[in-house]
Amino acid sequence: MELFQLSRANSVSEAIAAGAASTTAQQGAEVRLLAGGTTLLDLMKLNVERPARVIDISRLPLDTVEDMQDGGVKIGATVRNADLAVHPLIRERYAVLSQALLAGASAQLRNMATTGGNLLQRTRCVYFRDTAMPCNKRDPGSGCAALNGFNRTLAVLGVSDACIASNPSDMNVALTALDATIHVEGSTGRRSIAIDDFYLLPGETPQRETVLEPGDLITHVTLPPAPPGARSLYVKLRDRASYEFALASAAVVVKVVDGRIAHARVALGGVGTKPWHSPEAEAVLMGGTPDMATFQRAADAALAGAKPRSQNAFKVELARRGLVHALTQVTQTV
Ligand code: SF4
Repeated sequence: MELFQLSRANSVSEAIAAGAASTTAQQGAEVRLLAGGTTLLDLMKLNVERPARVIDISRLPLDTVEDMQDGGVKIGATVRNADLAVHPLIRERYAVLSQALLAGASAQLRNMATTGGNLLQRTRCVYFRDTAMPCNKRDPGSGCAALNGFNRTLAVLGVSDACIASNPSDMNVALTALDATIHVEGSTGRRSIAIDDFYLLPGETPQRETVLEPGDLITHVTLPPAPPGARSLYVKLRDRASYEFALASAAVVVKVVDGRIAHARVALGGVGTKPWHSPEAEAVLMGGTPDMATFQRAADAALAGAKPRSQNAFKVELARRGLVHALTQVTQTV
């Protein structure tokens, strides 16, 4: 780990001004904002992140979960994952988010990790975390060791020849299924970004993962009102039952009216270079009957664009089955 200067932001504007001194919001940034530190400190110890300045934002007043007038909910950026998972508003209206949070990491990590930090969680690709290996995300233009290397855990959707790293977050998959909006304050003012537009595909520039600019601070996330009568579920498939990242996961929000699917929102995790929203699966589900044939066609549509590499073709079938299972469970009558 290299030497760095640590200071604390006493206001949102202080944090924004400090962050704006960085010339890039992505990899290699000279200034990093620190909340829970569960990603950043790991990567600093590995010399993957080498900020000259670290700004502690953990005491900013962004740590509340609030009911909104329209029936939605506002989640502050520094709300801890553990607190969010058990918050009554989340458990009652957005079960899929609570389930995804509780499926992630360990109790200790969830006690530290924050909403904003989880949105910006970096990939677990082993080459990204090893500075001796080529990695376009960490060192643009150096190559991608994973293309012909250890790629069992990496993405099959949204990949490019420059990077196939998977987004490791569970929370982000649930937020995608819930159609979340990310609210940002920066040196040019405030912006609200639909989660579908927040993450970038790797393309030729995998070092750039989101639309955030230097100085941008995520202040909060909002969720629209849950569709009345809809049910939601998160299914996570992994190598062991706890403290493990998803090989494939599915977050679904579905409403059935008179034997037909009247609302469907589908997101996949573990298989995409970003939390993977599937309008293709939703198009199959909408208006269909909630049965195995419909679910299998939806899963086929969700994975149709998959481009597996040497070790991760199994993820295509795993994700298909995970999605079919989630849809079957969430539409089961009790
Ligand atoms: Fe780096 Fe992406 Fe290749 Fe992994 S998959 S080595 S993160 S460029």
